[in-house]
Amino acid sequence: MKKKTVDVQGIQERFKSLNINVNWKKLNEVQTYRNNIEHYYATASPGSVQKMISDSFIVIVNFIQDHLEEDPRELLGLDTYEVMRSIDEVYEADKAICLQKLKSLNYFTNTIYEILVTTTCSGCSSGLITSSETNVDACDTDYICRSCNRGFDYENLVTKAFEKKYAVSFRDIANGAEDTSSECPECDGYLFYDEGVCICCGHEISLVCDVCDTPIPPSEVLGFDGTCSSCTYRWEKMQDE
Ligand SMILES: [Zn+2]
Ligand SMILES: [Zn+2]
Ligand SMILES: [Zn+2]
Repeated sequence: MKKKTVDVQGIQERFKSLNINVNWKKLNEVQTYRNNIEHYYATASPGSVQKMISDSFIVIVNFIQDHLEEDPRELLGLDTYEVMRSIDEVYEADKAICLQKLKSLNYFTNTIYEILVTTTCSGCSSGLITSSETNVDACDTDYICRSCNRGFDYENLVTKAFEKKYAVSFRDIANGAEDTSSECPECDGYLFYDEGVCICCGHEISLVCDVCDTPIPPSEVLGFDGTCSSCTYRWEKMQDE
């Protein structure tokens, strides 16, 4: 009989059949990193590795305690356990500072805060981005990564974070999905269509036609003057007659 090593997919299926819930999302990054090391291709920065260890530490500890009913210190070995625990502790403490500062800011919409707390640094992939100042308008402060010290300006940071989170592929659009953003008529920034607000300058826009009350699709927002394209067309035609 051919020997078969259990791969990650095999483990996931086995766990599912045993009704064991594990946050695989948090472990996926670690798995990719492990594969890269195996192929001598590890480009992850210290900041991103700290995040991976911190993200996976609690998942591993819970699994060992809840399902294996073992002491994680013993199973992992005290040295390994202590290294992971201290990395997790430092990371979580840093993250808490980031959250506290971000929470003190005023946002055009709370969605911006929610996205900023989950975004990762474009330089080092850590999740430790925070504001330079506290208790000001979010658009009036700069931002910094506590892991690699890279600086970000507000507009760039939020635009990239929203683009990443709400990316609609060309394929989705070809299949009929509407874009989730549009260009802000005031500042050319990122107009967050779901809420009709520009995340860069706070400009708000009505997304419903004045005449027929139908929603205006993002593709028409820029030329939108209160009426949808068919109402505008009908009105223009009446002028011609
Ligand atoms: Zn960074
Ligand atoms: Zn704007
Ligand atoms: Zn209309």
